[in-house]
This record gives sequence, C-alpha cells and structure tokens, in this order.
Amino acid sequence: MKFAITSKGDNKSDMIKEIIYQYLMDFDLIYDEKEPEIVISVGGDGTFLHAFHSYIDRLDEISFIGVHTGHLGFYADWLPEEIEKLVIDIAKNSFEIVEYPLLSMEIHRKDTDPDCYLALNETSIKKVDGSVVLDVIIKGEHFERFRGDGLCISTPSGSTAYNKALGGAIIHPSLPAMQITEMSSINNRVYRTIGSPLILPDHHVCRFKPVDLNQHFLITIDHITKSIENIVAIECKVADQRIRFARFRPFPFWKRVRDSFISDQR
Ligand code: NAP
Repeated sequence: MKFAITSKGDNKSDMIKEIIYQYLMDFDLIYDEKEPEIVISVGGDGTFLHAFHSYIDRLDEISFIGVHTGHLGFYADWLPEEIEKLVIDIAKNSFEIVEYPLLSMEIHRKDTDPDCYLALNETSIKKVDGSVVLDVIIKGEHFERFRGDGLCISTPSGSTAYNKALGGAIIHPSLPAMQITEMSSINNRVYRTIGSPLILPDHHVCRFKPVDLNQHFLITIDHITKSIENIVAIECKVADQRIRFARFRPFPFWKRVRDSFISDQR
C-alpha cells in the first residue's frame, strides 16, 4: 500500500511524522507523495484541511487519517500515544471507509468560465469594506436580500468550526446537507433577513447574486482566502464528491463533540 504523511511543521508533529514513516517503511509499505492510497495528517484539524486541499484531485483514491499533536480534533482523532496501534492497523488490518459530505462552490464572474472549488469545512462570503449585499436564491426562487458582514456556508463536518461560532447548528456528517449562517445581518424596518441558520438538503442549489457587480469580495474556502472582483453569482450545493476516512475503531461523532466542547473526561 502507498502512503504519504503531511505534518503541521512543528517539532512534535515532524517527530511523529518521522516515527510513523519509519514504522510503515519497516512494514514494507511504499512512501508515495504523488499517488498515495492513504494520507496521514499529523497536527490538528487545520493541518488536516491543508492535507485535504493538497490531494483534492485524488479524493476517490485516498483514505485519510488524522493524528493530532495538540488538543483533540474532529478530523485528527488519533493520539500520539496510539501511533503503534495505528501503524499495525494500517499495515496488517483491513479498515472500514467512512465518507463525509463536501461543499461544492462555483464562482461565476463576468466574461469567464466559472471557477469551481470544494470545501471540507465551509466557504464564507465577506468584504473588506462595507456590507455584503446579495440576493439569496434557493432552488431558483428568490428567498431574501441579505445585507450584513457576510454569509458562511458549511458542510456537516465543518458545522463544529466557523459555523458553530456563528450560532449554527451542529450537523451529523452522515447527513448530506449544507448550512447557511449569517454574519451580523442588518435587520430593521427597511432590511430583513431570516435571521436563523438554514439547513439545505443535497438536491437544493443555493445561488448568491451580488446586487452591485463592481464589488470586491473576500471568499474563503476552508483556510484559503481569495479576493475576487466582478462576481455575477456564487452557486453552492452539496458536492458529488466525498472525503473518505480510514476507520479502524469506532469514535462516534457525538463523543468527539462532547470531548471537544463539553468535557474531555472519557
Ligand atoms: P485557524 O484560525 O488557525 O484555526 C481555526 C480553529 O478551527 C483551529 O483551532 C482548528 O483546530 C479549528 N477547526 C478547524 N476545523 C474544525 C472543525 N471541523 N471542527 C472544529 N474545529 C475546527 O485557521 P486554520 O487552521 O487555517 O483553519 C481554517 C478554519 O478556521 C476554517 O475552515 C474555519 O472553520 C475556522 N475559522 C473559525 C472561526 C471561528 O471559530 N470564529 C473564524 C474563522 C475561521 P486545530 O487547532 O485542531 O487546527
């Protein structure tokens, strides 16, 4: 089996990367950064996002594993002290594959083909100066005109990240859905938005149409930020592609939620 390892780059993560590398090579696995079947991310959830985007063109061929070297993570759910067990599992045992939904986003600009992106956590639409003003169109029907700091459109596994900080719900990653949360919408007698997060199923497309086409938007896709002008529309939906995780033991999502946000007592 071919594997690759990515590291956060700090001393601890690099050391653990080296240990995993040596163990797996001793088990006669093949290190292949270009075409791995397994990608092991060592760091935290942020490091995992980098690993995901590094291998975004080969999602169908790869199973991801996350080892965390800081606090407990959602994607990085193996502890450094569990590495020996993990390595033996990878080398000797078959594993279950668990798939999580992703978000697909198309940015349509004037006079060019659309740019397509995939997000593991979320995309957000913001501006450097002034309010974001855009029409929200769900399944072809005008839903509202949004005015405010911006919107976050998250995946179920991203619902514990930026989305949660914005008051969004936590969604179990077995549900193929996307969630739209507002950032400080303007609500008064003149302007009105729904105010609550919206959870859309996988057959609904949501289109965001800027009212003024000459605006400069800041679009984030997970950890990546892009500054984009002349946006005609942004289209979001649950992606056809999914991310695959190699699972060697049960670690229920709600347990990870509890351990991360309520208590780490096991
Ligand atoms: P960062 O600002 O360095 O770290 C953001 C934090 O989010 C880290 O603590 C990271 O965990 C955690 N995180 C990432 N994905 C998560 C998930 N699915 N569930 C729970 N926590 C998660 O930024 P970054 O490392 O480049 O990561 C980009 C992400 O930051 C974005 O995708 C967005 O979700 C998140 N973000 C959050 C806020 C907020 O909460 N107010 C604001 C902006 C962006 P680790 O420490 O394990 O890496």
